[in-house]
Amino acid sequence: NRKFHPEDTVIDCGHGVLVGGGNFQVIAGPCSVEGENLIRIARAAKAAGATMLRGGAFKPRTSPYTSQGMGERGLDLLMEAGSELEMPVVTEVMDPRDVELFIRKGVNVLQIGARNAQNFPLLREVGRAGAPVLLKRGMSQTIDELLMSAEYVMSEGNASVMLCERGIRTFETRTRNTFDVNAIPVLHHLTHLPVVADPSHSTGYTRYVRPAAYAAVAAGADALEVEVHDCPSQAWSDGAQALTPPQFADAMRRIALIRDAV
Ligand code: PEP
Ligand code: MN
Repeated sequence: NRKFHPEDTVIDCGHGVLVGGGNFQVIAGPCSVEGENLIRIARAAKAAGATMLRGGAFKPRTSPYTSQGMGERGLDLLMEAGSELEMPVVTEVMDPRDVELFIRKGVNVLQIGARNAQNFPLLREVGRAGAPVLLKRGMSQTIDELLMSAEYVMSEGNASVMLCERGIRTFETRTRNTFDVNAIPVLHHLTHLPVVADPSHSTGYTRYVRPAAYAAVAAGADALEVEVHDCPSQAWSDGAQALTPPQFADAMRRIALIRDAV
């Protein structure tokens, strides 16, 4: 709460990458870690200016009959890529029993997915683990409820929480979710925690990801989380919203211009 904590929280995510307090970072990578293509995608993302690497190894899929991710092997691939490129790794943990594994592997930032935004035992467990947390807004979560989810993490002694707007469910069907750009200034008004925007899940379609990213940057997001894939038609998940490396590089050029202007 800004009333008791007026200064912005700055979170050290590893490899010297700070989020919050005027530092701006871009988290990029595929929706799912799929194998050897990870390092290629990560190199391209870094060359375009990404500062953190994302990828899902344990995937929260709507259907139990679709790929559930590579699991532990996916974490190893992420950590290898992160150490080669000196990029902190952000990856989703779904089960409180896996938190210890993620910490042991050296995962830099524990992502809590939208579907687990109110999984209170999981929130408490990542709170106890102490590593920085990227907390995604639940798909039907109000801003106040999101803040209470953050309190679950922080009440266990972990103040390193980033809040992520990733789109909410509304009556609109032309996009996968509705990007609540308002949440960015509202969260900055209410809290000292860094605010991250995810234009990929917010829109669901490659063609809308860049405009949403630009809006998020103009609205003051402290970081973006963007899905990038070198062959979206073959992606295990979320290919429809992936940017190719050239599209991502194009986005990064315009983001730099917007950052200079605001
Ligand atoms: C993801 O980042 O790939 C993801 C599953 O996001 P969300 O939890 O926001 O749907
Ligand atoms: Mn995804």
